[in-house]
Amino acid sequence: MEAKYYERLKNGFVQCTLCPHKCKIRPGSRGICKTRNNENGNLKVNFSGLIASSGLDPIEKKPLFHFYPGSKIYSIGGYGCNLHCSFCQNYEISQYLPDLTENYKTYEAKEIVTKASILPQNIGIAYTYNEPTVFFELMLETSLIAQKNGLKNVMVSNGYISQAPLEELLNTIDAFNIDLKSFNDGFYKTLTGGRLKPVLESLKTIVKHGKHLEIAFLVIPGLNDSSNEAGQMFKWICDHLGNDIPLHINRYYPAYQMSVAPTPPETLFKLRELALETLNFVYIGNLHHPNIGMNTICPSCSSTLIERTGYQTHLKLIDSSGFCKICGYGPVVKMA
Ligand code: SF4
Repeated sequence: MEAKYYERLKNGFVQCTLCPHKCKIRPGSRGICKTRNNENGNLKVNFSGLIASSGLDPIEKKPLFHFYPGSKIYSIGGYGCNLHCSFCQNYEISQYLPDLTENYKTYEAKEIVTKASILPQNIGIAYTYNEPTVFFELMLETSLIAQKNGLKNVMVSNGYISQAPLEELLNTIDAFNIDLKSFNDGFYKTLTGGRLKPVLESLKTIVKHGKHLEIAFLVIPGLNDSSNEAGQMFKWICDHLGNDIPLHINRYYPAYQMSVAPTPPETLFKLRELALETLNFVYIGNLHHPNIGMNTICPSCSSTLIERTGYQTHLKLIDSSGFCKICGYGPVVKMA
């Protein structure tokens, strides 16, 4: 399949413009994500339609806590990523790619939508597990067909995507969960191979277009857990995106090239308290402690609106339009 976002340069080179790396690729070579290669002066997408993982997941697993809470979503992911985080929690599919010479079964957009349409209690399709930007063309086509079939589309991403393709996706993607890995450009540069600014731009664009957004922040001891730096992140979210944006503060576990010990729970609690000084909805994830930082509390009257135990979700005091049943605050969550 030919890539959608690239330019032809001199001497058979091409420049991919899909993500902020803007790789200039010589004939016969691949970009940083290794999923796009220059074939005789044309940029081709490798592994398109190759599904590494799929399943009907609780929407809370994405994590999205304020988008059709308690529902299920058909989730698919492929191989590859445009960032190379040394702490990647999904590195088996993001950092290792299948051998191109093998004959793999690949899926067409229509087949994915057909599968999604027959699953019971499914609200749509989530593009997730690896970085969906690297299978942009398939995601765009699938999301368009899914939308026409009344399904919702969700993108779970690192936010490292150029503005033009992101704006094109905004026509069909209903909700985003975007990683904000740190508020320090040096962290992005050294530990992910990307930069902070393009991610912040993506977050602003998503909100500007009125799409549902939640943010995930994976806290790694000694690397991005300082109160000062995290406090700047929380303030930026509040100032530029609004204080109702849900934030998921997630526990890190050693993975891939990172052997730092798991985040102490106390660090997560401390950062959550700090975030709650400016943001209304702050959750703790990956802790496997059922009752801490999982419930949705009304910022106006402090009622517990949604109770969560693991992936069990109880809509306690939320009306059918997503407002607090006690004081009318909202909409707190998207329900229809
Ligand atoms: S999507 Fe891949 S090839 Fe394109 S600019 Fe990003 S890293 Fe480079």
